[in-house]
Amino acid sequence: MARIELKHLTKEFDKGVKVISDLNINIDDGEFLVLVGPSGCGKSTTLRLIAGLEEANEGEIYIGDKLVNDVPPKDRDISMVFQNYALYPHMTVYDNMGFGLKLRKFKKKEIEERVKYAADILEIGHLLKRKPKQLSGGQRQRVALGRAIVRKPKVFLFDEPLSNLDAKLRVQMRTEIKKIHNRLKTTMVYVTHDQVEAMTMGERISVMKDGIIHQVDTPLNLYDKPVDLFVAGFMGSPSMNFISTDIKNGKELVADEGNIQIPTTEKYKEMIVPFIGKSIVLGIRPEDIYIKNPGEDAVKVSLNLEVFEPMGNEMFLYFTTGKTPIVCRTSEVISYKSNETYSVYLNLDKVHYFNPETGNVIKKN
Ligand code: ADP
Ligand code: MG
Repeated sequence: MARIELKHLTKEFDKGVKVISDLNINIDDGEFLVLVGPSGCGKSTTLRLIAGLEEANEGEIYIGDKLVNDVPPKDRDISMVFQNYALYPHMTVYDNMGFGLKLRKFKKKEIEERVKYAADILEIGHLLKRKPKQLSGGQRQRVALGRAIVRKPKVFLFDEPLSNLDAKLRVQMRTEIKKIHNRLKTTMVYVTHDQVEAMTMGERISVMKDGIIHQVDTPLNLYDKPVDLFVAGFMGSPSMNFISTDIKNGKELVADEGNIQIPTTEKYKEMIVPFIGKSIVLGIRPEDIYIKNPGEDAVKVSLNLEVFEPMGNEMFLYFTTGKTPIVCRTSEVISYKSNETYSVYLNLDKVHYFNPETGNVIKKN
C-alpha cells in the first residue's frame, strides 16, 4: 500500500517538445485513480514514469514517502497490466501467473499459495492447467491480472487493459476490477481513453489533454462542475451542447445569432456584467433540455429535428437551430418526425457558462 505523488513532472522525448508538462497529482493510499484523455495526450507516458520505464526530465515522483526518481523499475514494487497482455503461449495459466515470482526466486510453496490466492480472487482456479490458447479473451485478461496480483505490489498500474475485449466483456471486467480493488484496497492508477470507463471506475478522475491535467475530481463533480470547455465536452455522452452567445446589454443573452433569446435572471446578472459587449459559450447537457415544459427557469426554443435515435428506454434527438447542432436526451419515448419543428425547454439552472477566450468556466456567484 502506498500513496503516489507526482510533482512538477515534465517529460520530453524530442528536445523542446513537452509530452508531459508540469504535471502534479496526489494519489491517496488505496485510491482508485483514473487517468483519462484522448489518444496521444500522455497517459501511458505518465504511467511509465511512475513505473520507472521512462525517466522524467524534471520533477519528482514519490511512492509511499520515498523519492523514487533514481529507483529502478524492479525495485519500485509496482505491477503493471497492459492492453496486450502477452501471456507465454507454451506455459500453463499456473506457470504464467507464477513465472515472475520464480524469476524473483520465490519458494515453490510461496508461489503456490500466491497463485491460489490470485486464482481465487479472479475465479480462475479451474483454468490453472490450461494453456492461453484454450482460454477466451476475458479469461486471458484475468490471467494477466492474476500475474499482477501474485506480486502483491504496493501499486497497480493499468494501461487500457480492457481495450482488446468486446463491449459486453469490457463492462463485465470493469466491475471485476472494481471488486478486486475493493478487496485488495491497493492503490491503483488506471489509464483509459474511454470516458464511460473512467466515470464508472474512478474514485477520482484526472482529465488530461496534451500533457496537461485539466481537472482532477470525483466523477460527479467532473460531470456537474467541469472547470473548462475541454472537460465539459469530453465527459458525457452524447456530449454537452455548446452555444455561442452574445451579451448585448446584460438583460438578455442572444444565443446562436438570435435564434435563442435567454433572459438573464437576477441570479446570473452579476456574473454576466464583465462580458457585456462580448460573447460567452453556454453549455447545456442533453438531459437538461426537455421536450415538455418543466415550469419556471426554463427557456422555450424552437428547433428543427434532423435525426432521432430510439434507445428503448430513452431517445437521443439531434436538433439544429439552423446554425448549431443541439442534442437532447429524453425519456419521452414517443414517435418523432425528422424535419419537423419542435419546442424544447432549456433548464436555465443547469446551464454552464464559459469564457470562449480562456475556455474556463465562468463561476456562478
Ligand atoms: P497516450 O497513452 O495518452 O495515448 P502516450 O503517452 O503514449 O499517449 O504518448 C504521448 C505523446 O508522446 C505522443 O505524442 C507520442 O507520440 C509521444 N511519445 C510516446 N512515447 C514516445 C517515445 N518513446 N519517443 C518519442 N515520442 C513518444
Ligand atoms: Mg497509451
